[in-house]
Amino acid sequence: MAKFSRKSKDRLATCHHDLQRLFNEVIKHHDCAILCGHRTASEQHSAKVKGFSNVDWPNSKHNSLPSIAVDVAPYPIDWSDIERFNVFAAFVQQTADDMGIKIKWGGTFKSFYDGPHYQLVT
Ligand SMILES: [Zn+2]
Repeated sequence: MAKFSRKSKDRLATCHHDLQRLFNEVIKHHDCAILCGHRTASEQHSAKVKGFSNVDWPNSKHNSLPSIAVDVAPYPIDWSDIERFNVFAAFVQQTADDMGIKIKWGGTFKSFYDGPHYQLVT
């Protein structure tokens, strides 16, 4: 059974309880890494400048504390394998549905494809 690294655990700890519940379940079946939970003002600005995010502080779902968004990638990470992100997202969505947690996946965003991004629907 896969387990989160210390870094992944620390990042997930900055996220909303429902996201923690969801990905603590997902990791039991599908190895993955938590890339980002909460983003501080400087982290959000940096993400915007680097093109990882469309918005600047404080407009990202990553900016609240706890964060209502989390970035997660199937492990080992291969950014060129979009299909793997899609398959992983389908698994995450199914798990969320089973647990009664409403989420939106960044892969369905019209603005840009955000494959590792999941956010709670509030
Ligand atoms: Zn994100």
